[in-house]
Amino acid sequence: MMLAPNVYDAEPIPEAARAEIDRMFASGDLFRYTCAGDSPVALLEREFADLLGAKYALAVASCSAALFLSLKALDLPRGARVLIPAFTFAAVPSAVVHADCVPVLVEVGDNYRIDMADFEAKLDGVEAILISHMRGQTSDMDTIIALAEAHGLPVIEDAAHSLGTRWHGRNIGTIGKIGCFSFQSYKLLNAGEGGILITDDADLIARAVIMSGAYEHNWKKHPVLQDRFANWQNKLPLYNTRMGNLSAAIIRPQLAEIPRRVRDGRRNHDHVAAQLNASPWLTVPDALEPELRAPDSIQFSLVDFSDEETVAFQDAAALRGIKVQVFGMSEDNARAFWNWQFLGKVPRLAKTRAMLSRACDTRLPARLTVADCDQIAAALVEAADEVKAEMLAYGT
Ligand SMILES: *Cc1c(COP(=O)(O)O)cnc(C)c1O
Repeated sequence: MMLAPNVYDAEPIPEAARAEIDRMFASGDLFRYTCAGDSPVALLEREFADLLGAKYALAVASCSAALFLSLKALDLPRGARVLIPAFTFAAVPSAVVHADCVPVLVEVGDNYRIDMADFEAKLDGVEAILISHMRGQTSDMDTIIALAEAHGLPVIEDAAHSLGTRWHGRNIGTIGKIGCFSFQSYKLLNAGEGGILITDDADLIARAVIMSGAYEHNWKKHPVLQDRFANWQNKLPLYNTRMGNLSAAIIRPQLAEIPRRVRDGRRNHDHVAAQLNASPWLTVPDALEPELRAPDSIQFSLVDFSDEETVAFQDAAALRGIKVQVFGMSEDNARAFWNWQFLGKVPRLAKTRAMLSRACDTRLPARLTVADCDQIAAALVEAADEVKAEMLAYGT
């Protein structure tokens, strides 16, 4: 058997990071607020905001911290209800809980995107909307923004896994009031850990900067509208979830890699999707019309598979060296909403549950070659054929 392509290793960090890291080793200057001039974190914030087309950015410890600070910066009352999709990572409802708010889960359809009828039905009594673009899948942002505006609700975008995705040509993360991104190792930019939030709202950024841990007059090192900061002096708690200079130095030289990673990730995804869609047993839902994707993994659903066949498919793919996660079938999966027991009772959400029980996830990093992708696609198609042929042979 041919060795399966390695889908786990990260790409090397660009060599350009080394000189800056050596400089920091010599100086010990790792805290963003001790530099005399612009720190690497401040430079990353400016570069990232410019790249995305936002006015302001704040780099923090993780995307989860960015989501938490976004909710805090909106100054929602304790117990405020926040709409989130029921298909997301457990860290998203957790950020809502951490911000003393209550998540309201919305159904997600077979195409992995928010069910707009359920979204609209649940808007009453909600005070904010947090759209999680899970695995970079974009829901109908036109309708979401129109409904949010009609109800006077702020939209936060969890764009942790959507860097490089566009909607009508606009960068995902710039469509809502605040966009949050991750630099955790599985995302497009890898610093091990890290996150950033972007916004055009001066008051929101001022509040988020202070709460991220810009204590005393450290906010003076953020070159944005300074009068907004003075308004909030000593009035906000400090949650100290800053980014350090080492992380910023690792991220900054990767910014130039984004176009290549987006282009190759999309090529790999679309190449595999075409082969999976040619199988009667596998389906990759189409992106919505305004959406231009930047994937580094592929999601597909099993067609007419029982639970038993779904497990058999996972095993048959594993025998071919391809690890497939079925979100709703693996024990304790952090993306299956019924495992979010910290929320107390969760609603039934039959649509999302049905989708998760057949939705498969396979890593497809941008550095793979087209030949690697052919091998992965062939293994998945063969695994499905094998399971269905066996089941037909046994008459089950
Ligand atoms: C990775 C991820 C997160 C969490 O990001 P961290 O930086 O690890 O906190 C949140 N939402 C989505 C959609 C993600 O993919």
